[in-house]
Amino acid sequence: MEISHIEHIGIAVKNLEQGIKFYEEVLGLQCYAIEEVKDQKVKTAFFKLGQTKIELLESTSPEGPIGKFIEKKGEGIHHIAYAVKDINASLNEAASKGVQLIDKTSRKGAEGLDIGFLHPKNTMGVLTEFCEDNNQ
Ligand code: ZN
Repeated sequence: MEISHIEHIGIAVKNLEQGIKFYEEVLGLQCYAIEEVKDQKVKTAFFKLGQTKIELLESTSPEGPIGKFIEKKGEGIHHIAYAVKDINASLNEAASKGVQLIDKTSRKGAEGLDIGFLHPKNTMGVLTEFCEDNNQ
C-alpha cells in the first residue's frame, strides 16, 4: 500500500467546546469545521497543521464508540488515520496480511472522506484508520 502522510489524529474529548478552547487559545490553532457524523454518534471539530489534522471527537450518545471509549479509557488519543492512495486495495492488503478489519470496504466518514478501520487487536492497540480523499 502507499501511505502519503498522517491524515489526522482522532482525540476523544468529553466536551467539544472545552476541547476547541484548548486547541485555539493555548495551542493557537484554528477550528475550521464542526461536523456531526450521525452513524458514528459523534460531533467532530477539525484543526489543520500542514497536511495533517487534529480531529476532536465528542460522543453524542454513551452507546456510541467514542462514548464507550471514554468510559473505558477516559479522554485521549483515539485513533491515527493514514492517507492512502487506494483505500479498498489498502484494506484488502492489510486483511491478506492477517489484520482483522472493522470495515471490510470503505465507507463515508467526516469531510466526505472514504474511510476504513483496522482492528486495534492486530495493531498493537492503536486503532488505525485509512482515508482516501476523493472529493477533488
Ligand atoms: Zn478519523
